[in-house]
Amino acid sequence: MSQKPRDRLSRVKTGASSRYSGAIEESESLRLSQAVHEAAVSWYHRAARDLPWRRQDCSAWGVLVSETMLQQTPVARVLPRWEEWMRRWPTPHETAKAPVAEILTVWDRLGYPRRALRLQQTAAAIVEHHDGQVPSTRDELRALPGVGEYTAAAVACFAFGVPEVVVDTNIRRVHTRVFSGHALPGKTYTAQQRRLAHDVFPDPEHDCGQFACAWNIAVMELGALVCTARAPQCGACPVAELCTWRRAGFPPPTEEQKPRGQAWAGTDRQVRGALMAALRCGPAQRSVLIASLPLPAADLDQRHRCLESLLTDGLAEQRGDQVALPGVLR
Ligand code: SF4
Repeated sequence: MSQKPRDRLSRVKTGASSRYSGAIEESESLRLSQAVHEAAVSWYHRAARDLPWRRQDCSAWGVLVSETMLQQTPVARVLPRWEEWMRRWPTPHETAKAPVAEILTVWDRLGYPRRALRLQQTAAAIVEHHDGQVPSTRDELRALPGVGEYTAAAVACFAFGVPEVVVDTNIRRVHTRVFSGHALPGKTYTAQQRRLAHDVFPDPEHDCGQFACAWNIAVMELGALVCTARAPQCGACPVAELCTWRRAGFPPPTEEQKPRGQAWAGTDRQVRGALMAALRCGPAQRSVLIASLPLPAADLDQRHRCLESLLTDGLAEQRGDQVALPGVLR
């Protein structure tokens, strides 16, 4: 059987005794956190997916690109796009110099294409202010254009081993179920949830923060693979015996916690996506482009409105009656 490549956190050892020694008084909640940490990190070493941005040889830039692409987009769709991006533009220097039209073409159908423009702006700022090297601290990362709180913490932790508290949708859901006993965390990241994430975070001083970083990735993976929003696999869950929601008998979500279904068909996002798909094939006459969209339910007003929004966002440009991706029309 072939061995999985080692990822960045594969050397982290589990075993609580040394990690929590010291003056900390053990409370019930601390003991629960410790047990969950140990179970989740052990499980991660056995069950984690081998993803290229987790490997030891992946650059910090590769991690940053992956974290940007993975926002609101599943791993399976990100993988080929990430590989293509890193093959073409393996450093911030190359990304900053790339033609915008190529950036948007490689982004393909990942959705929210303004992320691609922002990623290029991030690369340009790294070249300008950090000599082309991705900075390692959360504050420096946060200061880059297009890098939010989550991405800054995730890159600091996963690329540089800085023990920052990382919280994404998957992590919020696991925290909510395991520690708070609720079905779902709701749409908003509340102050209470932020406090909880910090309260249950392992001691960042221990082990130079390696275990704390391992906790971040383990709980994220647990939320992605086992404790999913719609169908948690409690029978295969490494923290099942410790899960407060399970022990409470799976109380249903409140009205506020229930997910709001996001319709896709008929939305401006769908129309914008169809326009971008057409523009990736090449320039077009505006009237032909508008008429050619394979979306019978989208009326002319919606089509024009969506095209205007793409022009405003810098995702397309128009000269005369020709429309194209930025930089294509000369
Ligand atoms: S026991 Fe079920 S609900 Fe609780 S963390 Fe595991 S998968 Fe999620």
